Amino acid sequence: MQYISTRDREQQFSAAQAISKGLADDGGLLTPVYLPKLPRRSLEELKDMSYQQRAVYVMKLFLDGFSVKELTDFANAAYGPEKFDTPAVAPVRALDSNTFCLELWHGPTCAFKDMALQMLPHLLTASLRKLEEEKTVCILVATSGDTGKGALEGFRDVDHTKILVFYPKDGVSAIQELQMVTQEGDNVGVCSVYGNFDDAQTGVKQLFSDEKLREELAQRGYFLSSANSINWGRVLPQVVYYISAYCDLLRDGHIQLGDPINVCVPTGNFGNILAAYYARDMGVPIHRLICASNANNVLTDFLRTGVYDRNRTFYNTMSPSMDILISSNLERLLLAVTQEDSEVRKYMGQLKETGRYEVSERVRDKIQKLFMGYCCDDTETKKIIGAIYRQFDYLIDPHTAVGFSALGQYRQETGDETPTVVASTASPFKFCDNVLSALGVKEQAQGLDILDQLSQVTGEPVPAPLAALRDKKPRFHEAVEKDHMVDAVLEMLRPQK
Ligand SMILES: *Cc1c(COP(=O)(O)O)cnc(C)c1O
Repeated sequence: MQYISTRDREQQFSAAQAISKGLADDGGLLTPVYLPKLPRRSLEELKDMSYQQRAVYVMKLFLDGFSVKELTDFANAAYGPEKFDTPAVAPVRALDSNTFCLELWHGPTCAFKDMALQMLPHLLTASLRKLEEEKTVCILVATSGDTGKGALEGFRDVDHTKILVFYPKDGVSAIQELQMVTQEGDNVGVCSVYGNFDDAQTGVKQLFSDEKLREELAQRGYFLSSANSINWGRVLPQVVYYISAYCDLLRDGHIQLGDPINVCVPTGNFGNILAAYYARDMGVPIHRLICASNANNVLTDFLRTGVYDRNRTFYNTMSPSMDILISSNLERLLLAVTQEDSEVRKYMGQLKETGRYEVSERVRDKIQKLFMGYCCDDTETKKIIGAIYRQFDYLIDPHTAVGFSALGQYRQETGDETPTVVASTASPFKFCDNVLSALGVKEQAQGLDILDQLSQVTGEPVPAPLAALRDKKPRFHEAVEKDHMVDAVLEMLRPQK
């Protein structure tokens, strides 16, 4: 399986190259030339396998040059009992006969990013070995909250790697920030940026295209790579859990083989929902993909009008990991739908120049056959948290609530009652203050005591990794202007002796 740039088919790479590069030199996203198809019987076979085995089966289809033995070792290390608090890894919880919640937050940082970021370091270090790369890889990450911690946890103390995370100073929750600034490990760095997530992400993209920086770092024995969701090694492990969810529904008798399901995904950078799209393309019977946004509803507008326009107000919401105006992974969908690298290149050029592009009618129609977009504001998000809790005795976080709002709107608009899997992307304990207030609790405990308060109110246990924050000291305090991120990199990557 070869990988190409979304902007230039001529640039082809092996899986190991694609994963170690992260991003193509022309700024495009490295993407499989074609998507392998799952034979029908494979869903039947996968149904009785463990999550780890399903991961090996699916990833092997994309990763020539990686042996089953290797992938098995990776899956066992990434999704084992030391990392995930349930053997199911990504369990599907039935709320009623046609509403299911795919819980993606049972990993070490309590958000769905763990599903990919526990796997990526294995894929990346193996890729570098295969390429006989001798330099140390430095992972640069821009985070809207959960990626940063997930990447830090995934890469901490991994040989021949360094990791540096930039987060927007005022764009993450208190617990998310504490999770990052207390990160342990000898190869990690954390730095806040004045501005919002797009500032941080744009800054990191600039670092990647900074030739002078690249040369300087090469002399110091480093090269840069990305753990952002544009890295193929991030997207691929996410394809696994949609296939796995379908198998669980089969196994548990909720559906019969071949029955369609819908998938509803709270969306930011478009990585998670793109993985669902790929699972569909590979042969999982997915009827509709419901794309849920918060007040930053650039995707909702795009899916309705075919116009992507980032020239709009940016809102900090209570679902910060979706506070995004440039959904990078949409570029891969554009390639899949157009099959034309030149067309993608044109749109991305316009996006860069003017912050806006409009896809052709043909592309819009194709996308609209599959995708439906809905959005909701914070008031609605809170209402939904309360409503789901009362109706199903089930606690969800604000991101997941945006998903449930979208599902409700979709069902109302279309009357479609196809069984639907909602991706639940974070533990509610990462967002205690807003969740408690959604449940009507006005007097809130201070600091980390709020974790216990939410536990007492709901009877749900505090996830162990969050409870452990109590005993940790902040290690990182640095904040930079977005034009000075390069200094933070040079400071962290001082010449090796
Ligand atoms: C990252 C994140 C999202 C958005 O996922 P994308 O892949 O960026 O679309 C949603 N919810 C949570 C909790 C997240 O951490």
